Amino acid sequence: MTPVIRPLPRSLDPLPGESLAGFILRLSYRLGLPPTAVNRRTGLMDIMNNGQAWAKTAWSTGLPPVLAAAFAAATRLSPQEVTALTLEPLVRHYPAIGKVLRAEHERRPRALLWLYSSTSRYCPQCLRGDGSFVQRELGGPWHVLWRLPVVFACTRHRCFLNHLCPGCSQAIGAKHYSHLIARSSVPGLHPAQCRTPSPTRRTPHTRDLCGTRLDQAPALMPLSPPQTYLDLQQRILQKLDPLQPPETSARYFAELQLTCMLVTLTWPAAHTAANDPLAQEASRFLAARRSTNNSEGRPTIAHAPPIDAAACAALLHAADAIITAPDLRAAFTPLEAPRDPLGPSMALPPKYFLWKHHCAGRKAECSPAFQQVVTALTSRLRRTNKGEQHSSGQLERSLAK
Ligand SMILES: [Zn+2]
Ligand SMILES: [Zn+2]
Repeated sequence: MTPVIRPLPRSLDPLPGESLAGFILRLSYRLGLPPTAVNRRTGLMDIMNNGQAWAKTAWSTGLPPVLAAAFAAATRLSPQEVTALTLEPLVRHYPAIGKVLRAEHERRPRALLWLYSSTSRYCPQCLRGDGSFVQRELGGPWHVLWRLPVVFACTRHRCFLNHLCPGCSQAIGAKHYSHLIARSSVPGLHPAQCRTPSPTRRTPHTRDLCGTRLDQAPALMPLSPPQTYLDLQQRILQKLDPLQPPETSARYFAELQLTCMLVTLTWPAAHTAANDPLAQEASRFLAARRSTNNSEGRPTIAHAPPIDAAACAALLHAADAIITAPDLRAAFTPLEAPRDPLGPSMALPPKYFLWKHHCAGRKAECSPAFQQVVTALTSRLRRTNKGEQHSSGQLERSLAK
């Protein structure tokens, strides 16, 4: 039955760049209600197959029109303000957003590597707010762009984003894959408090949450981003401006992500500066990823962008340097498969076969020049038996070991 939507007694102005989840956290805190109550009264609760109800994490990517209208009516926001709380304005700029929305529309929910479904990085200083009355009372914004792996730094506060809670050492939201807000039935938590169940309890009650104030925690990242990384972040943010030409941005992100995949699979081949501390972060992270105790809070995929911001930045920086080089083919040379001097022809190692498969799937998103490089790097190689006999999914699992 469709719930009757009435305006809430009070609402809030969304903060610039704020996410849907962040807005609901601030609004529920203002109203003295658990986020669940706001979800229900704004029409976001969804009855799942098992009879339980919760607001889906997919709503933070885009709201179906009926839900967007109900949410706008309850919160007294304009339709444009509601849409701006989601990633929908960037659907033509950032390819992963459209894929997630289409899958949700077709009721085939899927997670994509280049769009965090529930985890989020964060800047403690942004969560602390700008000192204005409303932000002192309710905290600053959880930015909607923090869900994109390509956003690794806060250019305003010149720091890498965090992804771990300093209290419980868990990735934010990682244990609640399908929920818009973790433990949303618990009232009274400040919007910047960690909602992860306390790790010291074997059978955590809903109220036994970590509760660490993320806005008051010291920055966990020991490194400040070098200027070249902040410049890269600024350029990426410009491409995520809804006013920018969407085709240019979409092509850049497709090529950046595919190149980052090969950079990650062949790391440290793309790394040339021996004393780059961020490259060392990437090396450390990729080595630790093989451990079952990795901090990403989800199954490990060998070519996934690291959730650790510094490690991710190093890989993206290397990928960006390649795709923006004047000679694209020459820039890819360090990533080429090594030749076997004894063989009559080169065999295609599984990681290149996997890369070729992913490039083929996104061919239409890439420039002709990029497609030519992919062909040059892979077509003169023959597949190994392993490459021929295994699906890309099997290859991904074998490479993740
Ligand atoms: Zn910040
Ligand atoms: Zn915590």
